[in-house]
Amino acid sequence: MTDPIDLWETQQKILVILAHPDDPEFFCGATLARWARAGHEISYYLLTCGDKGFNDSTAADMTPEALCALRHVEQREAASVIGAKAVHFLDREDGYLVPDLDLRREVVRLIRSQKPTVVVTCDPQNLFATYGINHPDHRAAGQVVLDAVFPAAGNKAYFPELLAAGFEPHTPKEVWVSLTQQPNTTVDVTETWPIKLEALLHHQSQIGDVEKFKARMISSHTEDSTDENPRYEEKFRVVKYT
Ligand SMILES: [Zn+2]
Repeated sequence: MTDPIDLWETQQKILVILAHPDDPEFFCGATLARWARAGHEISYYLLTCGDKGFNDSTAADMTPEALCALRHVEQREAASVIGAKAVHFLDREDGYLVPDLDLRREVVRLIRSQKPTVVVTCDPQNLFATYGINHPDHRAAGQVVLDAVFPAAGNKAYFPELLAAGFEPHTPKEVWVSLTQQPNTTVDVTETWPIKLEALLHHQSQIGDVEKFKARMISSHTEDSTDENPRYEEKFRVVKYT
């Protein structure tokens, strides 16, 4: 089977647009690490700063403002491990993300200004994830990004104020939808799984007990492999515009 990543013969400009700090690494960090090491240019655009990401290990005196600032730092460190070139935060309020026209216009502006060849997001139809109910921000982020990619980003009749401001239509060649239960593309990420794990450890505010987390990540191998000889995969729904 040809590896889907090896089909790219030229350098790709990849925009990762997701809801929270840590989503890029959790959803598809090992694939991003492979792309970075193959010379592709990766930028993150995170719609919120994860200011409601409180859990059992959060310090009692933590505030949403302080958590937002901390998660900016954690995300920049993790992205650096992955090999992403830049991290941008739109800083919408965590937990309240809505895929409305205002946010769609912002994502269209982003796509038209950056002109990526590849956009990475997540599946808005994934309501029941393996760990329970999928976060509403994940679904909202996936919905607004897909709605922006098609038909709005490439059609000048959508958001004419953007065209008037100089943002010419642009449609990415490929959209890679992570955190999906409708995959059509599987990437073998065995070699970069340790990089994903190392990057995730920088999201210290989110992972709780480090040893338990490491054990869970190491055991997340494919069913046809073992703890001694593990193989790892990340799956996507890929949509192509040629
Ligand atoms: Zn998230």
